[in-house]
Amino acid sequence: MQKRKLLVVDDQAINRKILQNILKDTYEITLAENGLEALEILRKADVDFSAILLDLIMPVMGGLELLAIMKEDEHMSLIPVIVVSQAEQSETEHKALDLGARDFISKPFNPNVLCKRLSNLIELYESNERIDVMERDSLTGIYNKDAFCRVVRERLNQDFVKEYILVLMDIEQFKLINDTFGALEGDRLLQYIASELTISTDPVEGIVGRIGGDIFACLVPDEEDMLEKIVGAARLSLAKYSLEMKVHPKFGVFRIDDRKMPVSTMCERALLAAENIKGKYGLLFAFYDDTIRQKLLDEQQMSNEMVQALENGEFEIYLQPKYELVSERIAGAEALVRWRHPVKGLLSAADFIPFFEHNGFITELDLYVWDKTCELIASWIKRGDCYIPISVNMSRKDIYRDNLVELLMGILNKHGLKPQHLHLEITESAYTENQEQLLEIIGRLKSMGFVIEMDDFGKGYSSLNMLSELPIDILKLDMRFIQHRSRTENRRNIISFIISLAKWMNLSIVAEGVESEEQIELLRTLDCTYVQGYYFARPMPCSEFTEILFQSQLSDPVVCSEEIILGTTEAEKKKGRKVILIADGDAKDRDVLKNYLSDKYVVVEKENGREVYQYISENFDITDMMILD
Ligand code: C2E
Ligand code: CA
Ligand code: CA
Repeated sequence: MQKRKLLVVDDQAINRKILQNILKDTYEITLAENGLEALEILRKADVDFSAILLDLIMPVMGGLELLAIMKEDEHMSLIPVIVVSQAEQSETEHKALDLGARDFISKPFNPNVLCKRLSNLIELYESNERIDVMERDSLTGIYNKDAFCRVVRERLNQDFVKEYILVLMDIEQFKLINDTFGALEGDRLLQYIASELTISTDPVEGIVGRIGGDIFACLVPDEEDMLEKIVGAARLSLAKYSLEMKVHPKFGVFRIDDRKMPVSTMCERALLAAENIKGKYGLLFAFYDDTIRQKLLDEQQMSNEMVQALENGEFEIYLQPKYELVSERIAGAEALVRWRHPVKGLLSAADFIPFFEHNGFITELDLYVWDKTCELIASWIKRGDCYIPISVNMSRKDIYRDNLVELLMGILNKHGLKPQHLHLEITESAYTENQEQLLEIIGRLKSMGFVIEMDDFGKGYSSLNMLSELPIDILKLDMRFIQHRSRTENRRNIISFIISLAKWMNLSIVAEGVESEEQIELLRTLDCTYVQGYYFARPMPCSEFTEILFQSQLSDPVVCSEEIILGTTEAEKKKGRKVILIADGDAKDRDVLKNYLSDKYVVVEKENGREVYQYISENFDITDMMILD
């Protein structure tokens, strides 16, 4: 084994010789004649000294001066120093201790005692260092979770007088930062946050730790403005941080009133408070309070009841129509689940879906919703009249299921339906999780014939990139766009831009959450095709919807896929509108004809003979006339 290294600093050659003789068998020894020479050796930094034996009185630079310099240096201050001094120097000894010396040996010394004390000191230091490595988060250098909890516990036990709060900081969409800019950038951000939090909590002797991937925790005294100071400092430093994306922190606060509670529980509660304001624009911090406690109790109750509720048929499908704006005719519908709770009454999806997404039950519930939805469509078709496609919501948890496609096909087959009958609404935020996998899955679903609607577009962190990459058919504009009251001109411009972009990309647009005449007017001037919202209809029970459906004239459905057009053409046909096929290679010519005809007829366009032939061979019986170039 390699010998540990010692630095012996003494101006007397005879003293150096004596020490060397005593220690050379155990240690590798470097000698220095005064403080300055020692300093030069230490600064070369390629040698790790396990300890230093230091004389105090020396020419050029004495031991105290050297200790003072070492104390200020991050690395040198970690090397334990034993002062070897004359017995009568007790005044200076005291000073040396203040400057960080660890132990004393008075001359003349007993060699055995010297050796023993030296090796004890080194061992103590090295084991401390090992603990330090285990307790520190290797990326940021602050406490890891276990250490944070332990150190906080010690502080709470020692200091009974002060009141404390536990502040937790979570970064929104950290994963997106990692995915977009790379893990190195993500690491750099975490290091930055750790050091900024340390700086801002140091003056109040706060304790800072990294207790999860992108989650930091601080214990600070519960003093006036304390929280504002920490939150403000973090916000300011993140605003200065150079990254081509805004970093949004969320803070959860737990006021420690019961000191006996495990620190990990305190952290969990602060985290719950932070999660409660996730995605809520403008809210920076939240306290753990009674509403959150109540929420936990409610969730516990839901989790006890959900399986039985599904078996009892307490979940119901409500349908909300989508309208074509120009004709104000129904063009589709969205299935939204409700819970008819025996005690609490009718619960809206927002009351339980987020929790089911959290605990995973959503995948069970969605299978049920898809099944009931297909059952309904099949019943319409059976009734022989018309049908429109219904879109169902897919949670992120659904999308990343291995056998998703098989499950969907199984349900469709059971009811004798095709993928074209169902639209799938996939929320925009699913995109931020695992882009490649999502791309692959949507590609597969699409190739099977499902129509894909991107839900909540513009709600979170959508990028235009996403639009060009994902093979979607329909864009659902999040209701925030429509409902936002301020900066009207700006809003108009953004909606207008998105609508034109979507058109240019051949996507249909559905504007969600339309509640007022004014909003309708705006959407009309922007040439938005489809709308959904309370203005026209609220979500309603299936029976009610079916009645409306069979009474009303239908519009072309919200679609892009060819087969759906066929599906509806069939329906239109049954309602008495004639189908005309226009076969012309020139799009302009087709448009002229179409403008002329589409009020009275269902127009199908084909570009060339081959397409016409294929179309006719499949749809011979429903085509009334053909105009052929
Ligand atoms: P979403 O997919 O964005 O659905 C639209 C929500 O907005 C619905 O709330 C709907 O009732 C509501 N809404 C419709 N028009 C208006 C309007 O004009 N103004 C306002 N303020 N709100 C309007 P709901 O039914 O409570 O659903 C909330 C969310 O829960 C849905 O948001 C969807 O993400 C999810 N969800 C609903 N049903 C299901 C389901 O069966 N499966 C899954 N995975 N998620 C579902
Ligand atoms: Ca939806
Ligand atoms: Ca939506």
